[in-house]
Amino acid sequence: MQILFCSSEASPFAKTGGLADVAGSLPEALHELGCDVRIFMPLYRGVREKMPVLRPLGNSPRITVGPHDYQVFFWQGSTLSGIPVYFLEKDEFYDRSYLYGDPVRGDYEDNPERFITFSRAVRHVCEAAGWHPSIFHLHDWQTGPAAAYLRFNRPRDPRLAGSATVFTIHNIAYQGVFPAAFFPMLDLPPHTWSPRGIEYWGQCNLLKAGIVYSDFVTTVSPRYADEITTADFGFGLDGVLREREKDLKGILNGIDTKIWNPRTDAFLSKTYDENDLSGKKSCKLALLKRLEFAQDTFEFPLLGMIGRLAAQKGFDLLAQILPELMKLPVNLVILGTGDASIEQTIREKEKLFPNRLKFINSYDEQMAHMIEAGSDIFLMPSRYEPCGLNQMYSLRYATIPIVHATGGLDNSVTDILLCPESGTGFKFYKYEAQSFLEKIKSALELFSHSRKWEKMQKRAMAQDFSWTRSAKRYLAIYDQLLKQERTQQ
Ligand code: ADP
Repeated sequence: MQILFCSSEASPFAKTGGLADVAGSLPEALHELGCDVRIFMPLYRGVREKMPVLRPLGNSPRITVGPHDYQVFFWQGSTLSGIPVYFLEKDEFYDRSYLYGDPVRGDYEDNPERFITFSRAVRHVCEAAGWHPSIFHLHDWQTGPAAAYLRFNRPRDPRLAGSATVFTIHNIAYQGVFPAAFFPMLDLPPHTWSPRGIEYWGQCNLLKAGIVYSDFVTTVSPRYADEITTADFGFGLDGVLREREKDLKGILNGIDTKIWNPRTDAFLSKTYDENDLSGKKSCKLALLKRLEFAQDTFEFPLLGMIGRLAAQKGFDLLAQILPELMKLPVNLVILGTGDASIEQTIREKEKLFPNRLKFINSYDEQMAHMIEAGSDIFLMPSRYEPCGLNQMYSLRYATIPIVHATGGLDNSVTDILLCPESGTGFKFYKYEAQSFLEKIKSALELFSHSRKWEKMQKRAMAQDFSWTRSAKRYLAIYDQLLKQERTQQ
């Protein structure tokens, strides 16, 4: 099985969120299952530092994008385990400080050109590598046009015969919607400009292109797959997804269990495992000291929260409950960057409780590990959450999650109040501040029963969120698609 992963980011080369984790880890798991898998992504600024040895790949082709004829270069590197990674060099587009936009000025205006060019380059990179995959696994709106190019080229390009495309939606809120004036730049057949194609209320919707023109659509949890077919969660594409319901499946992301393993984690002052949780206590103490929490509160349960500061992540609920929450004997640490108004709100709250609420306003991987290990309880009140990784890290680090029962949060956490024998965390079912606060109170009550709490911690740690499990599910989809292609030929 030959699979090309096309993604606008992949860990460890370039990352802004969960997509990079998936595009970095899933290929590794597929490789271990015996697949010939390769990755294709843009050559951003910073990639060369992480990958000093890059070899040129093929000649430098010219790629037509609407009225433009761009000269591009391909480079080849590899992951630590030897998976080939192909990079598209076009400095004018990708050699920038950020991947998609400037935090102050917002998204780059030429994002349509940048990612239409990337999508266009998919066929060219296969040509340059002299390698023609049977599965093109495309991710998010940045590769939506590639689904259309592959669909329309397949009948006339023998190297695409028998191949299939899988398109994964990592977050349907990000759709790549651009003015109609960009349609000619896509060079797609005129009939694609229709509500059944790429058009979306008079604009170009690149995510929609991926949904409509790929052979199969996946998303990153079973619950989110259901949710996005509803008006509440579909961000306007629920109807389009309902039409593809039989080709739509949710597969829960895995986590990188080499990086996220409390038994071996080099970021921790002390490691631990399910047989001996004493190291976790040391991690908590180290974190409390480092962040200068008040010493007479060290015994309080420590609540942790990590993530992009975006409306999606439920910071509005947190802000509402904070006055009540901080009346309880708890400490709270928040790590995150993002929306300036959310940063401002948290900073103001921090001033009110300077010894018991700590806000670390940076992107800090070590601190993320220290918080996962050192906290007792992890908060993830996301309004919606396609999959979410932090709740899975928490479970593995015996940090009990309190989550809104949505998307991947619902699929990865078992409610202890409904399932006392198998529960791994707490869930609230209505997106409301009071429901969230009630669950925190329930968690604090159980926390005081240390034997019961420890039993739950051990159950949490034993959950299997390995990528191997998810990779087998993707492999089953690839297999099924290739069988269909063969019978159709
Ligand atoms: P999303 O993709 O919506 O941002 P996920 O939970 O799927 O959310 O993935 C977020 C990833 O980014 C996790 O690996 C998380 O630990 C990491 N992360 C987010 N914010 C920070 C931060 N400020 N510092 C360190 N890691 C962070």
